[in-house]
Amino acid sequence: MAEKPRIIGIDLGTTNTLVAYVKNRVPKVVPTDKGNLILPSVVALSPKGDLIIGGIAKDQVVTNPRNTIYGAKRLIGRKYESKIVQELKSYFTYDIVEGPDGDAAVSLAGRVYSLPEISAMVLGQVKTMAEQFLGGQIQEAIISVPAYYNDNQRQAVKEAGQLAGFDVKRIVNEPTAAALAYGFNRGLDQKVLVYDLGGGTFDVSVLQLTGNVFEVLCTGGDTFLGGIDFDNRIIDYVLAAFKKEHGVDLSQSPIAMQRIKNAAEAAKIDLTLIPNVVIELPYIEERKGKPMDLKVPLSREQLNSLTGDLVDRTFALCDEVLTEKGIARSQIDEVILVGGQSRMPLVQQQIQRHFGKAPRKGVHPDECVALGAALLGDSLGQIDAVTLIDALSMPIGYALPTGRFRKIIEKNHRIPTTKSFRLPPPREQGAPFIEMDIYQGDSELIVDNEYLGTVKVPAANVGKRIDFKLDEECLLHVAVEDAGEPREVSLATRDTPEMLKKAIAEELAKRTQRDERTAAEKGGLFSSIKRLLGGGG
Ligand code: AMP
Repeated sequence: MAEKPRIIGIDLGTTNTLVAYVKNRVPKVVPTDKGNLILPSVVALSPKGDLIIGGIAKDQVVTNPRNTIYGAKRLIGRKYESKIVQELKSYFTYDIVEGPDGDAAVSLAGRVYSLPEISAMVLGQVKTMAEQFLGGQIQEAIISVPAYYNDNQRQAVKEAGQLAGFDVKRIVNEPTAAALAYGFNRGLDQKVLVYDLGGGTFDVSVLQLTGNVFEVLCTGGDTFLGGIDFDNRIIDYVLAAFKKEHGVDLSQSPIAMQRIKNAAEAAKIDLTLIPNVVIELPYIEERKGKPMDLKVPLSREQLNSLTGDLVDRTFALCDEVLTEKGIARSQIDEVILVGGQSRMPLVQQQIQRHFGKAPRKGVHPDECVALGAALLGDSLGQIDAVTLIDALSMPIGYALPTGRFRKIIEKNHRIPTTKSFRLPPPREQGAPFIEMDIYQGDSELIVDNEYLGTVKVPAANVGKRIDFKLDEECLLHVAVEDAGEPREVSLATRDTPEMLKKAIAEELAKRTQRDERTAAEKGGLFSSIKRLLGGGG
């Protein structure tokens, strides 16, 4: 019998990427060539003009910020004109441009790269690492994505995998992968809650585990709540303490801010293990030719009071998701932690208080997604293969002429699924084509949702059946009735519809006015994003 092709599981993260494999049914993480288990998800152009990837690319972020691409996970599969890309654009230190297909792309020394190309470089590096470590070629991979990723984002990650030379067997949701790492082949009958607090986002999912059937019951979270917000609270505290003592505002000095940012994160991580730290930064500033030192003590208790509301918010989001699905907290059998920020002692204490049980030990918060993806890969085609049933994280529907959103498949609907309806008439009477712009998102208005593409069919199809089919990877297929049979249609245009461009322009203008008014009082989301993306103060 031919040997089964080897397959790896990849957790393609915002900050770091991990790859895992299975040997004798035990999943393990592949070390990088430097012996670490993680590869920074960073691609850069070195001053010599070479493309560099991983740790060496990350090292040049401060000295060569324009040519260092990080956080690609936030941009991949998004339209350049989308509201989020327009908002993020001014806070990245590198150039974001419009790619030929209307997607956001990046420019390195004048050459445009698509985001799938950038992620493919990271995945290519991962492929080499795994091949060197395991010996021999590896073609097949399972890649994980956040549960809230829309159709475009999933397609783009798949494309990145293919560009890196992989046969991408499946795209799997991160919480599902984490649950697999916990429950695979253990014959459980449990409801588990996956609490994923990472660097920039918080995700919560509830899954029903029945043997090797992993069913997502509901999912939610906040794409702008994560470790960076905890760091920001410490940064603000340190800035205020320094100003009080020395009367100097360090927020105006980008180099000082970069040092404070690093020290704040390090202090936060140290406070996970020890109760007190002192943040010390010698020569932080110079005044009248004299060096000034920064020295601010910080205790775990102080950190807890600075960030307690952020932790509370994660639990409010857990409750929201549970309530939507009518699940009581007491019905949760296990809580699985994912993401570095979930190691904070306050998070662990609050899990105990909120759910009446300690989080599950033995599932590594950084590694479980890659391990679960590898287990899924290994199980494909086996007798005890895993069955995954997913839930749609955000509704899918189409734009009405008023700019409102008509939902076709509702949030938390079981996947795979097919929903059928009748094709509406063209937006303008007498037009030769029906053009239906498809969107995904929680809002009633298309401007807040993500554009997925347009179905364009001759007007003679009015009233015919149209199917929206979501396959097991949560990818959308659209079919229109043809001689009584469904015929798949490709989404005709990937450019941003005029109606959406106009709505975004209006919305951004309104926002700018609003933000100008509130910025002074609050600091707000934009300053968090700016710090997250390393833009300094
Ligand atoms: P991830 O996106 O899962 O890699 O999570 C990264 C976030 O976790 C960053 O904000 C880190 O500062 C934070 N983090 C990592 N280790 C710890 C720790 N031991 N205690 C608290 N936060 C941590």
